[in-house]
Amino acid sequence: MTSFCIYGVGVSSGIAIGHAHLVSNALLEVVHYQLPKHLIDNEISRFTDAIATVKQDLVKINHGLRKNAPAELSAFIGTHLMMLEDKSLSEIPKDIIRHEQCNAEWAIKLQMDDIVEQFELIEDEYLRERKQDVIQVVERVIKVLLGHPSQLSSEQQANALNEERKLILVAHDISPADAIQFKQHEFAAFITDVGGITSHTAILARSLNIPSIVALQKARDLIRDGELMIVDGSQGVVIVNPDKSILTEYKLRQEQWELEQQKLQRIKSTKAITLDGTSIDLYANIEVPEDVVAVSASGATGIGLYRTEFLFMNRREMPDEEEQFIAYKTVAQAMKGAEIIIRTLDLGADKQMNPDTVVTCANPALGLRAIRYCLAEPQIFHTQLRALLRASYFGNIKILIPMLSTLSELRQTKLLLERAKASLRKQNIAFNENIALGGMIEIPAAAINAEAFAKELDFLSIGTNDLIQYTLAIDRTDDAVAHLYNPLHPSVLKLIAMTIKAGEKLGKSVSVCGEMAGDAKLTKLLIGMGLRQLSMHPSHILSVKQQILRSQQTQLSDNARKILSLTDLEKIEPLVAKYNELPNLIN
Ligand code: PEP
Ligand code: MG
Repeated sequence: MTSFCIYGVGVSSGIAIGHAHLVSNALLEVVHYQLPKHLIDNEISRFTDAIATVKQDLVKINHGLRKNAPAELSAFIGTHLMMLEDKSLSEIPKDIIRHEQCNAEWAIKLQMDDIVEQFELIEDEYLRERKQDVIQVVERVIKVLLGHPSQLSSEQQANALNEERKLILVAHDISPADAIQFKQHEFAAFITDVGGITSHTAILARSLNIPSIVALQKARDLIRDGELMIVDGSQGVVIVNPDKSILTEYKLRQEQWELEQQKLQRIKSTKAITLDGTSIDLYANIEVPEDVVAVSASGATGIGLYRTEFLFMNRREMPDEEEQFIAYKTVAQAMKGAEIIIRTLDLGADKQMNPDTVVTCANPALGLRAIRYCLAEPQIFHTQLRALLRASYFGNIKILIPMLSTLSELRQTKLLLERAKASLRKQNIAFNENIALGGMIEIPAAAINAEAFAKELDFLSIGTNDLIQYTLAIDRTDDAVAHLYNPLHPSVLKLIAMTIKAGEKLGKSVSVCGEMAGDAKLTKLLIGMGLRQLSMHPSHILSVKQQILRSQQTQLSDNARKILSLTDLEKIEPLVAKYNELPNLIN
């Protein structure tokens, strides 16, 4: 097998060695065409042959499974085989071909949509999710019909399945709604053709704490199911079919990397204080309540951003007040009095409830997203605010509003918060009357007007991911412009500095909860600029803390001042790198 490398943008560090698991997009490739009557029998045979091929493949894969392979694997293949035996997949598509005179791919896809629809009506969540099996097995059939079945032998596929824990997910693109589901799987790495470094999908990949690379362009086409690969998330490189010497070299690097990670564990319970005594709060970002386990393991002292929208994904109906209340209360209780900043719903743009939703507006990132959506749907917002308030009785919860751009949005939000409080009072339901309200500064308009926001809020949190996107006019999900996405752009730094200054002037705390906070190469700059609270994925806490423990705050302030006086990115980048390399106490 030929060995080759593909280069992309590393979004989560570390090295993984494993086998490719391709997320198929065969379903997207299905087109509809009409056939003349005399070709119908032919089309039906094509369909029957494809079903037979897939069955044979599955039987061979099943035979190839090692004795110690997880029992679910064999059961899962068995389910797929059973589905292919079932009339609904093996016979009804033939009727469709005959009646509609259409191609076989179209017929089986139509039938699949119908079955999936029926599954979606099932109350039981576990059974409802079995629709994924239908989709997977139909994808296999469609791949055969389209003439691109997996090019690996059944034996190779079985080998890949035998090493389930070492699977590397290879996808063209993955929506955040899909990515959140991968939290339940143990993939060794994650790579995609498209995506920017701070796309929500990349953020989720990072939160899985496995090496991940985006913007690989053609990985999905070049890599075959089951191929052996090395993913170097730190360098953004994928090596497919590595030879023995490369494999040995990377195994060594992998061990070294793991050793460094273990060493960092030593500072887990050390307080994040600079050499001259400035204390920094290192908080964690979470997406789902289960993430609190990683938060405790990381040594984070609070939660600086709980992205609640993930509770709303991959489902047909919004979670009701009770479900939300339980989720927020679970986090509140698990954090045992530590601060938890819960952000209200930030749905919209790339974060849709359903991954299949087709976004029709031209510029979704500039559209009805986050607080704009909540104010347009006050009933949905009211339900979330009530759930948050109720949970506030069980822990140290603060509310954070995303994507504020005008004061009027903030004032409307406050009115709705008061309304939610009043409704709870009426029902004698306990909540924290003095719950703090913060705002995200992630639109340049808000950063420029940060003082006005600081006056009316209890705290500010800078969302650098969006602040960069909106300041530089770079779609954070678009790999074509990913190289232009730069947190060190002087205009971005100025907006951050303005926000910090506004907070200082009005005595309101300011934190950063965007991805900049977790980048250890930027820690010294952010502390030097005056930030005292950073919130990041739990896996970044220790490397950021290490930077803080080695720094003199007074020196960092001087350095930051020099950096902020520069207007040219080409001068800023080397200076930041130089300050990062310099030993402490030396200017
Ligand atoms: C941000 O924009 O920096 C942020 C933290 O919010 P999100 O990444 O969820 O948009
Ligand atoms: Mg944001």
